[in-house]
Amino acid sequence: MTSGYDQLEMVADFFNTHDRRTRYEGDPGIEHLTEPSRLVEWLLQHQLIAKSDDAASAEELQLACVLRDELRKTIVNNEHDGVGEQVKLEQLTKSFQFGLMFHENGERLVPLHENAAKGLAQLLIIVYELRRTKIWHRIRVCTAKDCQWVFVDRSRPGTGRWCSMKACGNRAKNKTFRHKHHKSETTI
Ligand SMILES: [Zn+2]
Repeated sequence: MTSGYDQLEMVADFFNTHDRRTRYEGDPGIEHLTEPSRLVEWLLQHQLIAKSDDAASAEELQLACVLRDELRKTIVNNEHDGVGEQVKLEQLTKSFQFGLMFHENGERLVPLHENAAKGLAQLLIIVYELRRTKIWHRIRVCTAKDCQWVFVDRSRPGTGRWCSMKACGNRAKNKTFRHKHHKSETTI
């Protein structure tokens, strides 16, 4: 059984399949889920589907991307995407069917699908559990506008703002410093 943090890392990786880091002015970032086979690859890699379910349709790929973008809006410190429409997210979940399995040590939700839809439904179950167990807030998006990398904050307060203090954190601090410095120069 994987821990909540491992699951958070996986969800962060799902968000980062749309890499929004800008390497040059006007860079739209990199979309990794460009075709159904790439989605299958990702789902297999994260063991959300088995080899026997390794197929995806164009519709499933589209659903994956919309789901990813809508879920991303629910990241608690996300200032880049605006507030998500809860209704839209709820509507999206209606594309999936779930069953309930009863075990000796508890019950769990299971997806009632095959192929890529099964993997996406499984991912949704994981998000649901992460939100229920109250560690969802530890999934964060980097505050730097030209980064927006999604990361998992394992620090004690769990309120990190930058994917890396070395890179984005210092960059932001230097910017503030330059800004203040510039201001004081002009007022003299
Ligand atoms: Zn960053």
